[in-house]
Amino acid sequence: MKKILLSGVVLMLSFTAFAQKTYIHAGRLIDVKSKKVLTEQTIVVEGDKILSVSAGYQNSGTGDTAIDLKNATVMPGLMDMHVHIESQTSPTRYVDGFRDNEADVAYKALPYAHITLMSGFTTVRDLGGSGVNIALRNAINSGLVLGPRIYTAGKSIAPTGGHADPTNGVRRDLMRDPGPDEGVINGDDDARKAVRQAVKYGSDLIKVTATGGVLSVARDGSAPQFQQDELDAVVRTAKDFGITVAAHAHGDEGMKRAVKAGIHSIEHGTMMTEETMDMMIAAGTWYVPTVTAGMSAAEYAKIPGYYPPVVRDKAMNIGAQIQETFGKAYKRGVKIAFGTDAGVFPHGENYREFLYMTEVGMPNLEAIQSATLNAAQLLGIEAKLGTIEVGKIADIIAVSGNPDEDIKVMKDVTFVMKEGKVYKQ
Ligand SMILES: [Zn+2]
Repeated sequence: MKKILLSGVVLMLSFTAFAQKTYIHAGRLIDVKSKKVLTEQTIVVEGDKILSVSAGYQNSGTGDTAIDLKNATVMPGLMDMHVHIESQTSPTRYVDGFRDNEADVAYKALPYAHITLMSGFTTVRDLGGSGVNIALRNAINSGLVLGPRIYTAGKSIAPTGGHADPTNGVRRDLMRDPGPDEGVINGDDDARKAVRQAVKYGSDLIKVTATGGVLSVARDGSAPQFQQDELDAVVRTAKDFGITVAAHAHGDEGMKRAVKAGIHSIEHGTMMTEETMDMMIAAGTWYVPTVTAGMSAAEYAKIPGYYPPVVRDKAMNIGAQIQETFGKAYKRGVKIAFGTDAGVFPHGENYREFLYMTEVGMPNLEAIQSATLNAAQLLGIEAKLGTIEVGKIADIIAVSGNPDEDIKVMKDVTFVMKEGKVYKQ
């Protein structure tokens, strides 16, 4: 009899533990769908899900947790659609590539993932690294290390000598002739193989460098790099696997080819013409501006010796140009998702993109929408993330102050919850 009673108590206790809820009292809550700031709201979280959102401050029950964010602005976890989570800018970056083994890259990436989460970014899209990004994603998903939810491209795909050829600028005998396994392709057969290989390695999406780039040790930063059949083959093969393709592009011709091939997003888009903007609007192509990358590269280029000379010359001019293009594309109606290229500048400074976006005419709450709802749509995960609504995964953050009035407060993230777990308070 006693034994039965005891097990009943244990059962009751464990049931209570399961039913424990978290009540978040939000002084201001950003509804990213309507782009409105609601006041005095209560969000109830149970497990990893949002159970309810209601007006007024609801009282929590015994055993529940109450979180007081009455003086803060609460919003969905932020999403950055363009980061390089494995690496970070440094004057020794080009040499480090020769010294660091994969394990070194992995250990160095841990603080980058940590600070990204603590800055309020609960989801990121990683657009290319050594492949360690795939292992990092898995480690975060299984709770081994702290970081944002990662959707990763693994290694980027480029043609020989293209922006993402890992052997650019190195001594001739170290250059080798990398192939599809390392993301270097020539021709449509290679393109298919590289995509299939990426899927086999565990990539969530594909990244191509459709034009030259700023930070590669290669002469041209804007010329197209793939021929049309190569891009077509990449996109068609990715579609067979149900995954998307993101295209890095500075020059307009490479962008046009990418849009024609059916690319999902254009990254940077520096010299985008109005004609290309219209093609993107017609095709529903996303634009991920990464103004912060351009601004940072221009700043670092002024430091003597920071970049190799060929990189410095390209980096000098790019920043303001991206911001101007972003302003035009936004006004013309191109779909915008927030992305920074973090890693090109220190991780954790992702908020800077909000300042640059609003400087050229995007309203504050629309910039936040681009980093939540729009980003979730770009990733195809809007059914479970990107807004604070009943049934969605509880990725919730808060800043002190009101970003509707002053976007600079996005720097001061005071509260981070990911999947119902509090990481910063
Ligand atoms: Zn990038």
